[in-house]
Amino acid sequence: MSTLLIQGGTIIDGSGNERFTGDLLVENGIIKLVSKKKITSHANRKINADGLLVTPGWVDIHTHYDGQITWDKYVTPSSWHGVSTVVMGNCGVGFAPVKKNNENFLIKLMEGVEDIPETVLAEGVDFNWETFPEYINHLNSLSRTLDFGVLVPHIPVRFFAMGVKGADFNSQPTNDEISLMKQIVSESLASGALGFSTSRTKKHTTKDGNYVSSLNAGKDELLGIFSAMKNYTNSLVEVNSDFADSDFEFIANIALKYNLPLSVLLLQVHNAPQRWNETLSKIKKFKAKGLSVNGQVGSRPIGMLMSFDGSINPFINSPTFKLINEMPSKERKENLLLNDVKLKIIADTPKDDHLDWINSLLPRCFKFEDNFNYEPKEIQNILSISRQLNKPPLEVAYDWMLEKNCERMIYHAFENYNEYNLDVVRTLLADEDTICGLGDGGAHVGYLCDSSSVTSMLKYLKSDLSDQNLSIEYLIKKQTKETAHFFGLNDRGVLLQGMKADVNLIDFDNLDVTYPSIANDLPAGGKRVIQKSKGYFKTFVSGVEVYNEFGFTENFPGRLIKGNQKS
Ligand SMILES: [Zn+2]
Repeated sequence: MSTLLIQGGTIIDGSGNERFTGDLLVENGIIKLVSKKKITSHANRKINADGLLVTPGWVDIHTHYDGQITWDKYVTPSSWHGVSTVVMGNCGVGFAPVKKNNENFLIKLMEGVEDIPETVLAEGVDFNWETFPEYINHLNSLSRTLDFGVLVPHIPVRFFAMGVKGADFNSQPTNDEISLMKQIVSESLASGALGFSTSRTKKHTTKDGNYVSSLNAGKDELLGIFSAMKNYTNSLVEVNSDFADSDFEFIANIALKYNLPLSVLLLQVHNAPQRWNETLSKIKKFKAKGLSVNGQVGSRPIGMLMSFDGSINPFINSPTFKLINEMPSKERKENLLLNDVKLKIIADTPKDDHLDWINSLLPRCFKFEDNFNYEPKEIQNILSISRQLNKPPLEVAYDWMLEKNCERMIYHAFENYNEYNLDVVRTLLADEDTICGLGDGGAHVGYLCDSSSVTSMLKYLKSDLSDQNLSIEYLIKKQTKETAHFFGLNDRGVLLQGMKADVNLIDFDNLDVTYPSIANDLPAGGKRVIQKSKGYFKTFVSGVEVYNEFGFTENFPGRLIKGNQKS
C-alpha cells in the first residue's frame, strides 16, 4: 500500500471554509484523513508542509486539448499551473466523431475557431478513430500528467450526420439526420463523454471565414439532441454564444425542459459592454425556475499577446519584416535592432485590413512589463505613451518589442476590459452563479496563454481585506469544488476523506506567473505562446507527485475521466 503524509500545512480544502493548520493522509491515491490534529501514521513518505498552502488540484473545465492530449503527455501549460483535471471538447469543436477522409474538415474548423495551426494538427493527431466511442477508447489508453474529460462537440456530430451540408450554418437537418445526431450523442454519453458542447457565437469562424455551422442550429435539432441526453447523468450542456436577442432563453428553455445542467461563457464583450449583466440576470431567472445553470467567467482580460516571434504583430505583412523573419535567429535579431531596418519595416507595412485591425486594438494595447499585474491603466495604453513620447504608435510598438532581446510582448486586453479595470471581472467572480472557466488551454496558441490565469487569479485578484469577498479560500473554491462538481466530478475538488488525492502544495508568497515566451515545441515545428509558473512546490494527481519546483517528475497518473464521478 502506498501512503503519503503531508504534515503541518495550511489547509485550504476547496469548500470555501477558512484555512486551518493540519495534516493530510493519502492511501493509494485517495484521501484517508484530513485533520487539525497531528496524524501519526507509518506513511511511506512524509512531507513537511510547514509554511505551505495545501489545496485541491485545480479543475479547469474550459480547455481545447482535444488534439494536444494525443501527442503531449505533459499537457502544458495547464500542468505547470497546479491543474490536476482538464475538460476538453468545449465550444462545439473537437476531433470526434469523424468519418474517414473527413478529418481535414475538423482540423480546419479547429484552426479557424481555436487558432491551432493546420500543420500542427495534421502532423500531431493520428485519427485512428471514427466514432466518438472509438475516440474515447483511444483516450482511455493514454497516461498523462493530469486527468482529462471530454464533451461531445456539436459541430463534428452535425458534420458526421449531415455530410457537407452539416458544415453550412444556414442548413437545418432533416428528421432522419436529427435521429442520427440523437443516436451519436447518446452513444457518446454512454461511452463516457461528460456532456455536450455547442457554439452560437459569430466570433467563431472556420478557416474559410464562414460562421461555424452550429451558429443557427434550430429548435428541432436541439430538442432532438437534448432529449437524447435526458436519460444520462452526464448530461451537461456547455454553450458559447454572443447571447444577443433571446438566444439565452432559447437554449435555457430547452435545457430546462429536459433538466440538463447548463454552463455558458460569460464575459464582457467591448461592443456590448453591459450584456454580461443582462445574461447574468437571465441565469438567475432560470435558476429560480429550477434550471441548474451558471456562467463560466475569467479572472483577467482575454489577453492577446503580440511579439516579433508570435503569430500576431503589426508588421507581419511588411515585405522587409517577412524577409528578415526568415533569417536565422541571431541574424534576425541583429537586423531588427538596426534603426534603418526599423524605419523601413514601419514604412513598408501595407495599409491593409491587418493594419486596420491592429489600429483598432491600440486603445487597449499595453506594454507587457516584467511585473505586469493584468490591470493596466488607460494612461498606460500605447496611444497615451505615443503622445507622451511624441512618437507614432507603431514605432512605440516596434521599440517595445525590441526590448528583452526582441522578446518583449504587447498585451491587448481583448475582452473583459471595457472600463480599463477588472471591476466587472471581480463582480462576476464574486457572484454565486459563476464558476472559473475561460482559460482556453491548448487553443489560440500563437497569441494567447490564459490557461495560466488559474495562477494569476490567486496572485492578483485576491482581496487582502477580510470584508471583501474575493478571499483566497473563495477563489480556490471557484476553481476546485465548484468547477468539479458542476461538471459531475464529485470525486475531486475538495480535500475530504474519500476524495481523490489531487493536491497542490503552494509556496504562496512566491506564487506567480512567469514572463510569457514563444516555444517551438508543437508538432511540425509549430510555435506557441507559453507561460510558466513559480510557487507550486508540488502537485499530486491521485496521490502521485507529477510536478515540483524542479519540473516534471515523469510520473503520469492522469487518466481519462469517463462520465460522472461519485464522491
Ligand atoms: Zn472555448
